[in-house]
Amino acid sequence: YLAKENRTGIQQYQLGMSKSLSRKMLLEQYLHKAIEQNELYLEYQPIFDVFAKKAIGLEALLRWKHPILGSIPPVEFIQIAEESDLIIKLSNWVLSAVCSQRRLWLDKDFSSFYISINVPARQIHQDDFIESIKRSLEQYNLPPELLKIEITERTAMTNVEKTLKTMRELQEYGVDIILDDFGIGYSSISYLVQYPFSTIKIDKSFIQGLGNKSQKSVCRALVAMGRNLGMNVVAEGVEEIDQYHYLCSIGCHKIQGYYFSRPTSVDLVEKFF
Ligand code: C2E
Ligand code: MG
Ligand code: MG
Ligand code: MG
Repeated sequence: YLAKENRTGIQQYQLGMSKSLSRKMLLEQYLHKAIEQNELYLEYQPIFDVFAKKAIGLEALLRWKHPILGSIPPVEFIQIAEESDLIIKLSNWVLSAVCSQRRLWLDKDFSSFYISINVPARQIHQDDFIESIKRSLEQYNLPPELLKIEITERTAMTNVEKTLKTMRELQEYGVDIILDDFGIGYSSISYLVQYPFSTIKIDKSFIQGLGNKSQKSVCRALVAMGRNLGMNVVAEGVEEIDQYHYLCSIGCHKIQGYYFSRPTSVDLVEKFF
């Protein structure tokens, strides 16, 4: 009886595994064609400045809608893409789509806000990364201040010398670098402060934990640290009015989250502005 039970267990396990494996393989296969088949698009989520009482920037977020499978969550397909050079192809698509969109908005007199893009390790470590940024900005005749780059702690920590060099060059050129998902990367803070980040973005897990007293202290410490280092501090994942009020009370005045706006289409963003 036990043996039989066991066998069923193993069979189910194998079935489950091959199911997720085949989904992954399928997604990878489809993803290769996603650009050509026009299945990718971007949504934009505003970042609000409480003092300026307006959106100061937008984060570009990649979306993939497959005709049969429907919308695939970015965390799922981006992870798949990151396992191969496919991520380079997607990242290049994002970069030029964002610059082209920013040009359209500039022509419509939406002049002041930046757009930030998420840059994965494989992209920032490409030898022609800086060139490709410059080329895109020049192609659309955009001032570098209108583009910002978000990288995670993990990306900052891989290939340290090269990353630092790239970051310094970008900053000199006028493209700011944002530390995304700050606080969850387990990296040494004394190490991180050597990097030329203009902004830290506090990870949404801290904001979501604000109901908890000790999490409040952690969040306050992160905000104070960023400010004392002369960096801008953005809170991401702000959904509720209480979170918003608390963040304001501890000196975090740049807010991104559903409370103000979900990531939205180009049309809705325009209405917003
Ligand atoms: P991220 O860069 O940290 O982006 C913020 C994520 O938080 C987005 O998820 C956004 O929709 C979500 N978010 C914003 N406000 C709230 C809120 O109030 N509550 C909650 N629960 N979530 C909120 P999304 O769009 O699913 O993207 C997930 C991740 O996928 C991103 O995290 C980023 O790491 C990656 N990603 C998205 N677009 C791109 C891209 O173009 N290139 C690369 N390399 N990665 C991307
Ligand atoms: Mg981001
Ligand atoms: Mg983030
Ligand atoms: Mg994230």
